[in-house]
Amino acid sequence: MSKVQETVREKYRSMTPSQFFYEHREIAGFGSPSRALYQTIRELVENALDATDVYGIKPRIMVVIERLEDNPDHYRITVEDNGIGINPKYVPQAFGQVLFSSKYKLRQARGRFGLGAKMAILYGQIKTGKPVEVYTSPIGFSKIYYYKLKIDIEHNRPIILSYAEHENKALWHGTRISVVIEGDWSRARSRVYEYIKRTAIATPYADIIFIDPEGNMVTYKHSIDKMPRPPREVKPHPHGVDIEQLKRLIKDVQANSMLEFLVSAFQGVGRKTAEAFLKWAKIDPNLNPQKLSDSFLSELARKLREYPKFRPPSADSLSPFGPEIIEAGLRAILKPEFVVAVSRRPKAYEGHPFIIEVGIAYGGEIPPANEPLLLRYANKIPLLYDEKSDVAWKVVDPRNFNWKDYMVVFPAPIAVLTHIASTKVPYKGVGKESVADVPEIEHELRNALREAARKLRLYLMQKRREEEAKRRVITFVKYTPEVAKSLATILKDVDEKTVQEMLLTAMKRRLRLEDEDFVKLVEGLEVSIEE
Ligand code: ADP
Ligand code: MG
Repeated sequence: MSKVQETVREKYRSMTPSQFFYEHREIAGFGSPSRALYQTIRELVENALDATDVYGIKPRIMVVIERLEDNPDHYRITVEDNGIGINPKYVPQAFGQVLFSSKYKLRQARGRFGLGAKMAILYGQIKTGKPVEVYTSPIGFSKIYYYKLKIDIEHNRPIILSYAEHENKALWHGTRISVVIEGDWSRARSRVYEYIKRTAIATPYADIIFIDPEGNMVTYKHSIDKMPRPPREVKPHPHGVDIEQLKRLIKDVQANSMLEFLVSAFQGVGRKTAEAFLKWAKIDPNLNPQKLSDSFLSELARKLREYPKFRPPSADSLSPFGPEIIEAGLRAILKPEFVVAVSRRPKAYEGHPFIIEVGIAYGGEIPPANEPLLLRYANKIPLLYDEKSDVAWKVVDPRNFNWKDYMVVFPAPIAVLTHIASTKVPYKGVGKESVADVPEIEHELRNALREAARKLRLYLMQKRREEEAKRRVITFVKYTPEVAKSLATILKDVDEKTVQEMLLTAMKRRLRLEDEDFVKLVEGLEVSIEE
């Protein structure tokens, strides 16, 4: 049989998304038991936060990892939140159908792929055979709903094993989900702890309780009441549009003229802008959008992307932390002597709005190191793996950023927090671990870092001035009695004590110190003076 004939006889088949992710689970972060344990926590915690702060609810989240008695490699992971809950009608699909999500919209959220929870469930199911259990009470519902389910991998649909409704006497709302997976706690331990800690840094308005398999409990109580502004859903921006999206918008909007279509489908496009664009693009405003050829659509998409006068993408869909929250988080967890944070104005790449934020924590309990401790966040998710391939590392790396200009000399006790908030974070993979170096993002990161570092420099300069003043006081105070003695001998009619006081007063004036400051300084110096 010839090669060609062999190819002709080849069998073709299709795969459901469940099958695909079952076979390629490592690309979603489920490649090994330790990584899977970390990833499961992460996906469930992210869902819990998406169900709370995105809706203006102050998160109270509990995470429990238990080692099962019948198999020491099996862990039950339970995450409970006080969020909006899930309509019982959608629970089976939300947890039993890969690529089913309520977050496929233009609004910042931690989850976006409709994958995370299902990956944990799928992984647990194939490694331990155990189903997922979900309790949920959505806001506005009077009962607590319980589901036990598995995923039918071949058909990508849920299999409901049991269902129950319970009274909700305490009027609880939220979700509690438990999965059993194969894990490796001893290897995952430090990453899991680090993940929880970094989540706490980013959510100083949340209460988080974590119980590990050895029964250790860590709690992070909120240190600030302020919450970030919740994101709003927005229409697409014309600069980000392609042919497929145009077709879908034309179908959804049901407009009779191009003018009407543009005004209803896109953000920031009013009648005037639409008219100006159509004139520029030489398109008849009365043309019926329902009857456009593919080649016309491709041309239209290109022109929409290229027209320079659309308003920049709206940042309403974004929810940055804001400087106050970043500073509170860094202060509460890292206990530095100085913090500063900046939130840049919204920018865009390829029609996607984004906001860059940078925080710096310095000194205090931060251990000195040869490079800055980098805390990366994307849409508020802490990123722990693949640090060196992230654009944020490229920017803070001492080989690329001149820290000396900002009075930071390594080894230095410094941590840098970076955050990119966007309706589309350019992750390098579906595991969502590192951000690609899009030039616009890199540029903003560098500007934000400079802005924050300038404030750090001001602080360090001030500190150095104070230290120099202190040194001068030491020297002066040390020699005052001797000088006073000699002066008194020369001056004759003034006693030694008065001369000493005069000298100290002159010193205070010179350094522009108040009495209290001076006393404080001198008190702090006693040891060194006696030496
Ligand atoms: P994604 O988070 O990317 O949408 P997931 O598989 O993690 O995908 O979750 C699927 C859907 O299930 C979510 O879009 C959300 O609607 C719902 N969901 C999951 N966890 C929770 C939760 N703790 N509270 C409310 N809804 C949830
Ligand atoms: Mg999710």
